[in-house]
Amino acid sequence: MSHAKDSITAEEENQIMDALDVWLSKEVAPHVRELEHEDIYPTEIVQQMKEMGLFSLMYAAKHGGLGFSASSYTKVITRLSETWMSLAGVINTHMMLGQLIQRFGTEEQQERFLPRLAQAELHGALCLTEPDAGTDLQGIKTHARREGDAYILNGSKMWVTNGVHGSLYAILTKTDLDAHPAHKGMTMFLAEKGQGFNVDGKLKKLGYRGVESAALSFDDFKLSADRLLGGIEGQGLQHAMGGLELGRINVAARAVGVAKAAMNDAVRYAQERTTFGKPICEHQSIQIKLADMATNVEASRLLVEQAASKYDKGERCDMEAGMAKLFASEAALENATEAMRVHGGYGYSKEFNVERYYRDAPLMCIGEGTNELQRLLIAKQLVKRSPI
Ligand SMILES: Cc1cc2nc3c(=O)[nH]c(=O)nc-3n(C[C@H](O)[C@H](O)[C@H](O)COP(=O)(O)OP(=O)(O)OC[C@H]3O[C@@H](n4cnc5c(N)ncnc54)[C@H](O)[C@@H]3O)c2cc1C
Repeated sequence: MSHAKDSITAEEENQIMDALDVWLSKEVAPHVRELEHEDIYPTEIVQQMKEMGLFSLMYAAKHGGLGFSASSYTKVITRLSETWMSLAGVINTHMMLGQLIQRFGTEEQQERFLPRLAQAELHGALCLTEPDAGTDLQGIKTHARREGDAYILNGSKMWVTNGVHGSLYAILTKTDLDAHPAHKGMTMFLAEKGQGFNVDGKLKKLGYRGVESAALSFDDFKLSADRLLGGIEGQGLQHAMGGLELGRINVAARAVGVAKAAMNDAVRYAQERTTFGKPICEHQSIQIKLADMATNVEASRLLVEQAASKYDKGERCDMEAGMAKLFASEAALENATEAMRVHGGYGYSKEFNVERYYRDAPLMCIGEGTNELQRLLIAKQLVKRSPI
């Protein structure tokens, strides 16, 4: 089944990208350094993102969305991340939650939530990770106990992007603590805040500032049974993994944006800065850095394009999404480091953006499944797809 039900035309995509460029350079770029350094949530920018329809991008037209394919969406994510990667985080889990409901939700859940998400009345967040379990999601402890036509949730979640400003949360739980294998006892719920749902605070971070990563806890938090995603217990891990394909493509697209921004800044600075009587871009060691950075950007972009196109066709793309995420995030880290070297001492200064890329890039190696995990998944798929 294709995921791209009502994709926009190439002309519409170009118009939107042009408008995005103007908005980013006028309304966002001048404020990023201050908001980021002070770790201030960009309330006005987020409001403008809502008004521009950025919260509606991947929602189907019938729900009031813009019907973007993953291929078009990733271009927006890359462009946002070139200016400020945190802004991509504001809409990424919102889009992933929508895809989860679109793919796995009951008809009633789709009708209840998708129009409100598409119109940004609700802001989505994903709660998978816990203090003691991230990569190994089968080790989560959050428990949902059935009581009549309700479930009672207890436990805690960690690193939830949009955890404070979110208003609809997908929460991965265990409904059967003794299930074997453990994933058969895992179930996803859709929850709005209520009594027993606690936002315990923002976590302090190296980068990816402005947008919050929150710790949440549930204290006898009661949800009616119709909030169980898809209406059937025991499919939570599958739901989480289904959502992560798009999540990984998104992270890769963000990494392309950071890698490109680092390259662009390095190319500009290398022409401005003179040593030994010539611009540093004429020194061979700097040229090698610029060439490798440009190659990193193009290779990453093509991997993202390939994974997104498979996703849009409804084809299995865990391996492709993993490769895009692995390569692009390592490339972003490398480009950020190399851009800092090209800038010399100024690269270490807070007066330039390069230090931000250097702090933002490592997140892409960790989020939506670490790169160590991606390598395991890629290798497993490789063997599975090439049996002897
Ligand atoms: C800023 C930020 C935002 C985030 N946003 C969200 C969010 O919105 N929602 C959400 O649910 N989570 C979110 N996360 C959590 C993120 O997905 C996890 O941090 C990540 O999946 C890793 O889990 P962990 O931190 O528990 O590390 P661990 O799982 O403890 O891993 C520690 C190390 O061991 C390695 N490792 C683990 N298992 C294996 C293995 N089998 N083989 C080889 N190596 C292994 C890992 O690669 C890593 O290097 C966010 C994290 C950050 C930092």
